[in-house]
Amino acid sequence: MKKKFLLYMLAGMLALYPVTYTYASETDGNVEETTETEIDDATDNSNGSCGEDATYTLTDEGTLTISGTGSVRYSAFHKYYFSESDRIKDVIIEAGITAIENHVFYDCENLRSISLPEGMTSIGERAFSGCNRLESITLPDSITSIGLAAFMPCTSLTSVTLSSNLTSIAAMAFENCHSLSSIFIPDSVTSIGDSAFENCADDLVIMVCSDTSAGYSYAINNNITTQMHVLVTDAAVAATCTTAGKTEGSHCSVCKEVITAQTEIPASGHTVVTDAAVAATCTTAGKTEGSHCSVCKEIITAQKNIPAIGHKAGAWTTTKAATNLAAGKKVQKCTVCKKVINTASIPRISGVTLYKGINKSYTLTAGKWKLKKTKAATLKGNKLTIKKTGTIKVTEQKTKKTVTIKVKKPTISLNKTKVTLKVGASFQIKAQATPAAGISYKSAKSKIAKVSSKGLIKAVKKGKTTITVKANGVTKKITVRVKK
Ligand SMILES: [Zn+2]
Ligand SMILES: [Zn+2]
Ligand SMILES: [Zn+2]
Repeated sequence: MKKKFLLYMLAGMLALYPVTYTYASETDGNVEETTETEIDDATDNSNGSCGEDATYTLTDEGTLTISGTGSVRYSAFHKYYFSESDRIKDVIIEAGITAIENHVFYDCENLRSISLPEGMTSIGERAFSGCNRLESITLPDSITSIGLAAFMPCTSLTSVTLSSNLTSIAAMAFENCHSLSSIFIPDSVTSIGDSAFENCADDLVIMVCSDTSAGYSYAINNNITTQMHVLVTDAAVAATCTTAGKTEGSHCSVCKEVITAQTEIPASGHTVVTDAAVAATCTTAGKTEGSHCSVCKEIITAQKNIPAIGHKAGAWTTTKAATNLAAGKKVQKCTVCKKVINTASIPRISGVTLYKGINKSYTLTAGKWKLKKTKAATLKGNKLTIKKTGTIKVTEQKTKKTVTIKVKKPTISLNKTKVTLKVGASFQIKAQATPAAGISYKSAKSKIAKVSSKGLIKAVKKGKTTITVKANGVTKKITVRVKK
């Protein structure tokens, strides 16, 4: 045990000088001998001891899990004891382990991830030297020190999150980490050894939160670009019609200092657009005027539906007059939209009433008419000449359509023919002339009773008189007796 330890110390010291030191004594008989004293079963290295109070298991998939308490030592899983150390891919160190001693993962060339527990306080010298597949490591906040050349070199390492309670970074800790182009060094760090970040990426940037920090001094002294704070962009938030937005800003993810403040962008308000009213028609619904926002489409004033008005029926008009031979046609239009909404036929004129003394003739629709023998009329061509009252029948020879014409006497009907009135009283004559015509009234003795042109009798004084009613050459008489 003592012999082995001395060997490591010697190896570590030698490694300080040439940057690419290799354990030339790997196949040395002495080393092999030491191994045999340490491990009982050299063929089974899937589990074992790796510290005073720490044990490990290594799965076939390459997951190394370390449990226990205290520190992890350079141990059985290391390739200088077992060539299978290159089986280690993912390392999980469980809570309880407090330190990784020197060289523990030295040259674990396939190690690609490691999870360190809260409670761990230190990482030993060269603990990860040569872990060239390791790209990222996060140190728990309990870690206070990183040992000499701890990561020299980890050539794939690009992301290192240091502990916020870290106080010391030993010399050469990240030397030759060629891929490391940025690292944040917390203000808690008070000591950084020489060449701690020597030969990292050419464009290495060291981020710090204070220009009085050890990290800042180290960067200045070693001509490394510095950046104040770890900048995080606070994304701009676009304002909407109703909600305020923000300009883009930035802050430090570590100390939370606001670098570029976000300013409020007020809500833009709606862009109101008028939705034109649509007039309802006879058959289609309309809409009232409304409005909406052209940006967010919100409806400001909803349009209301206006039901269809329905047609407004106008008077019937004849589009084709009826004749003695054929029916006619009439239509009813909407007074608003002018569309025809009803059609109907007008019956053929097959019956006519005429009045003797008023209607002297009647002209039939053109055709070959024949008059049935009568004394009431004569026929010449289409023209009937009326002679007497009676019934006239004509037949059109081609169509066999007949027309019956009745010739009547004109008449006057009265509501009364004898009236008795007291002096001063009135009586309205209701006379009806057939055919309709102007009616005249005349009193024989106006001193007894007067009659107006509308047929209103007014009794004047006691006596008797006669009112003559005339229309269409017909005369009727009304006897008026006036009493006291
Ligand atoms: Zn900061
Ligand atoms: Zn809007
Ligand atoms: Zn209409």
